[in-house]
Amino acid sequence: MSYLSHLECGLCGKVYEADKVWNLSPCCNKPLLARYDIEKAKQVFTKDKLAHREKNLWRYREMLPVLKDENALSLGEGFTPLKKAVRLGKLYDHSELYIKDESLNPTTSFKARGLCMAISKAKELGVTDVSIPSAGNAAGAMCAYASLAGMKSYVFMPVDVPKPFVAECRAFGAEVNLINGLITDCGKAAAELVTKFNRFDVSTLKEPYRLEGKKTMGYEVAEQFNWELPDVIIYPTGGGTGLVGMWKAFDEMEKLGWITSKRPRMVSVQSTGCAPVIRAFNGKKEFAEPWSGAATIADGLRVPAAVGDFLILRAIYESGGTAVAVDDKEIFNASNLIARNEGIFPAPEGGATLAALVELKKTGWIKENDKTVLFNTGSGHKYMSLWANE
Ligand SMILES: *Cc1c(COP(=O)(O)O)cnc(C)c1O
Repeated sequence: MSYLSHLECGLCGKVYEADKVWNLSPCCNKPLLARYDIEKAKQVFTKDKLAHREKNLWRYREMLPVLKDENALSLGEGFTPLKKAVRLGKLYDHSELYIKDESLNPTTSFKARGLCMAISKAKELGVTDVSIPSAGNAAGAMCAYASLAGMKSYVFMPVDVPKPFVAECRAFGAEVNLINGLITDCGKAAAELVTKFNRFDVSTLKEPYRLEGKKTMGYEVAEQFNWELPDVIIYPTGGGTGLVGMWKAFDEMEKLGWITSKRPRMVSVQSTGCAPVIRAFNGKKEFAEPWSGAATIADGLRVPAAVGDFLILRAIYESGGTAVAVDDKEIFNASNLIARNEGIFPAPEGGATLAALVELKKTGWIKENDKTVLFNTGSGHKYMSLWANE
């Protein structure tokens, strides 16, 4: 059962009832965060309860928003391997290096976690039509779960998105609209029709529950490291749900009494072609200015303005973390290094995390013994065109 109690505006903390369809908070037009009755949950939801549960993200269901089991959709998402990167570790003289391999999720990216949760909860709330602006992976994941739920999918993607992303959505039966512009333009195009045709908008952080799916990465890292969190987590940041979600998970787990107050330093990596979070971090800002002329081979990082920017920055600051930009050439080379040493064909976003590690080791920000986790957020297969001329 779920201990969901209410929703809260991420900026001002105003409280909203949870059993209703919500997008952004009416008070501040900012993301809504799901809150749970953790005091009550902790009396029954103990770590040892997990031992016999299925190895997918629903194993943490007490801290997830879906109330009835019959609404919990599953394609086997979550509980991905946390693999020690032995050969890469040797190459970079870093013995405690790990890769959380999210490419093994349904539709080959960690977007499956968020959309699994958002679509399950939407189903519970009676939604029948769902709409999403996406740089690629989010759309595929949404369509997969919408198909499973028997919902109709509407997708808005930049016209230059690699073709496999489009093909995947069409295979799932979605109506795909290709927009001449960036993800932000797709967002605008989607928003107009959402109101007109009464579709539910599941844009990143514009509804409360994708974040809840993504936070399970934080629960898993803790469980897979036997409830002691690593020193550093490097996360490729677009809309930032994963980073914000993990930070939220750590807080919840501490309140549940599952972990101590020890937290990883959270590192946000973006491409030099689109680095609004890095620029804001360097300027010690609370919010990020939109990036103009965003361009990078890592489609998931091509997010010029994130609605949850202040939540991303807050997590980085609170954790004593940092933010680094790496260029596309470094991203591509690092992707190949992961493939050639670890047998994982990563999405370029995953490659970016290794490029960031190399950079941060050079400056001494990451020390030789820091237990470090790289997030490979997706598979390289849908980005195949990048390798076509190699
Ligand atoms: C969407 C995406 C990202 C960015 O994720 P956020 O949680 O929105 O920051 C990173 N990598 C891949 C492969 C993605 O699809």
